[in-house]
Amino acid sequence: MNLILIGAQGSGKGTQAQRLMELLNLKPCASGDLLRKAVADGTPLGQAARPYMDRGDLVPDDLIIAMILEDIAKMNGSKGIILDGFPRNVAQARALDERFAERRQAIDWAVYLDVPRAALLDRLSGRYICQADGHVYNLKTNPPRVRGRCDVDGSPLVQRGDDTPEKIAHRLDIFFTETIRLTDYYAVQGKLLRVDGMGAVDQVTRAILDGVNAAPFDRAVG
Ligand code: AMP
Repeated sequence: MNLILIGAQGSGKGTQAQRLMELLNLKPCASGDLLRKAVADGTPLGQAARPYMDRGDLVPDDLIIAMILEDIAKMNGSKGIILDGFPRNVAQARALDERFAERRQAIDWAVYLDVPRAALLDRLSGRYICQADGHVYNLKTNPPRVRGRCDVDGSPLVQRGDDTPEKIAHRLDIFFTETIRLTDYYAVQGKLLRVDGMGAVDQVTRAILDGVNAAPFDRAVG
């Protein structure tokens, strides 16, 4: 199964991607994480992408498309892929469709996590990620068991540099003018699954699994 998660910053996309990856044995492909690693490693891609990321702008399509197409080629025995943060516009979606078609594969579902803008602003102000691996927490909706520490690896929790109020507003503007058009793009293909992202984390996971017609959730929670 090949899934795309579409959702604004703060919609819970990263959290759901992590869960679905484990439940469905999908290879994760998170464009923001790959870019942040490239920046940290100082690669040519990272150096080129950094100014755009610092401003909260989209990285140019040619750079991001090349990076993602290279990453999705490495399936490492997974049963499919879960894309988080890519595509962010229709040009990227077309490039992805072309590559899948060349490989005689297809995207099965594009899941849109629907959360109103006011709730996103509220959530983003409480968002923390772990320094070691980017695991996502929210002080209000998904707090860590131990304050300031990641449940998974114990590393310190930090706020992202682009989670300032101005940059958050700018990134949400881009989402609601540009990325949101992907819902029409995938609806026309009959692949859009719209999920209410305002529920509890477990409820949202269940709604996605019900929608994509998979059922490992009950087994996974015992
Ligand atoms: P994210 O962690 O998904 O919020 O991504 C962080 C930043 O990386 C974004 O604000 C963009 O600057 C850049 N980025 C991530 N994915 C994409 C994409 N598909 N297209 C363009 N820029 C991206």
